[in-house]
Amino acid sequence: MSVPIQTRSPYPMLTVAEATHEILTRLQPLPPIEVGFREARGLVLAEDVVSPEDLPPARRSAVDGYAIVARPGRLKLRVLQEVTAGQRAAIRVDRDTAVRIMTGGVLPDGADAVVMFEDTREENGYVEILAVSRIGDHVQAPGVDAKRDQMVLRAGRPLGSAEIGMLASVGRTRVAVHPRPRVAVLATGDEVVEPEIAPPVGYVRDSNRYALIAAVEEAGGEVAWSGHCVDDVAELRRVVGEAASQADVAITSGGVSMGTRDLLKPLLAELGEIHFGRVSFKPGKPLTFATVGTTTVFGLPGFPVSSLVTFEVFVRPALRRLQGLTRLHRPRVTVEIEHPIHPSRNRLEYQRAVIHWQYGRLAATATGRQASSRLMNMVGSNGLLEIPSGGEILPMGARVTALVTGEILDGVEQGSPGG
Ligand code: AMP
Ligand code: MG
Repeated sequence: MSVPIQTRSPYPMLTVAEATHEILTRLQPLPPIEVGFREARGLVLAEDVVSPEDLPPARRSAVDGYAIVARPGRLKLRVLQEVTAGQRAAIRVDRDTAVRIMTGGVLPDGADAVVMFEDTREENGYVEILAVSRIGDHVQAPGVDAKRDQMVLRAGRPLGSAEIGMLASVGRTRVAVHPRPRVAVLATGDEVVEPEIAPPVGYVRDSNRYALIAAVEEAGGEVAWSGHCVDDVAELRRVVGEAASQADVAITSGGVSMGTRDLLKPLLAELGEIHFGRVSFKPGKPLTFATVGTTTVFGLPGFPVSSLVTFEVFVRPALRRLQGLTRLHRPRVTVEIEHPIHPSRNRLEYQRAVIHWQYGRLAATATGRQASSRLMNMVGSNGLLEIPSGGEILPMGARVTALVTGEILDGVEQGSPGG
């Protein structure tokens, strides 16, 4: 079965800003779950974490040396005993005595400073202090690392290495976090074959499914289901239903344009609700945003570059929102283009580029021919240039806004454009 030939889309054309707003206002962070802190890396905290006690809980030596009563002058003190890390002396230090103490040892009563080994000489049970000591030298006060009841991690913070360490140090072994969104990835198209197969003329290998799976994982999602479906309404109905039932977000590729085998829009309208079906930008005008049951559906166009760019601009921020992140978008920078650029006459265009830091400014070179079928122009690219529509050529040296999608390197010796 196919849909009747249409020459005009029934869907209003949204701007990129309108479409982004529509998506983000419909999504909320996923309800929190509790996980062990060891499993929490990369997730976003859903509660504030406070330190239940002073860290350290007692005065501690910051160096290896001698705990003494600080005062000026060259001192000779009797060494009472040794305290290693974690120990506490049962003895009091006075003006005539010292305790040999290792980093992390609890300061004995009476002592108010530690003198480093390097500034001492010990002989026959006595230590000579060769440097001037002041009260507090090399002593860590209780609570210097964190005070009791101090908030050490705020809800909304992504958990990286320092945050995992902080959870461990305050003893928070279980924490509330937002789960990773479960994502289904569905490639559609009669002509699409598995990468292992040599495609007959007219067929293409399925690159979208695998590129999108990677993109979902890079964006913090978890691929719960993936598959391919031919352009057949009954089959699509079954497969889209299956994908949606397993996921918070379903991402499809292909089948959203105006062709007679572009079946997804009517199907999504039948199964749920379409919020928008067209966005004024290149590459990816037919991008479709819908809800089926409780699943958010993004219908991405089929051309490999279109599907990845629409993912980058619209789906990635959505996945980040669901994870509870507050920073949803890529950083934006101003770059100087290193060659003239022809803007699209009527649509904002995201051109793939390599941005690099040179002579104290950011410069960008587009990655060769920008055809939406040509995945080569995304390979090695670390930015998307936002080229506003217009009739005038942008001259070399013109400044444009760019989304930074990868690491920016110094100079020009880096993954050069596809050519
Ligand atoms: P469509 O949006 O379904 O009209 O697809 C447009 C074009 O994108 C097709 O003609 C294919 O060349 C290409 N395409 C569609 N799906 C895939 C896929 N999964 N992997 C690679 N290319 C695809
Ligand atoms: Mg298709």
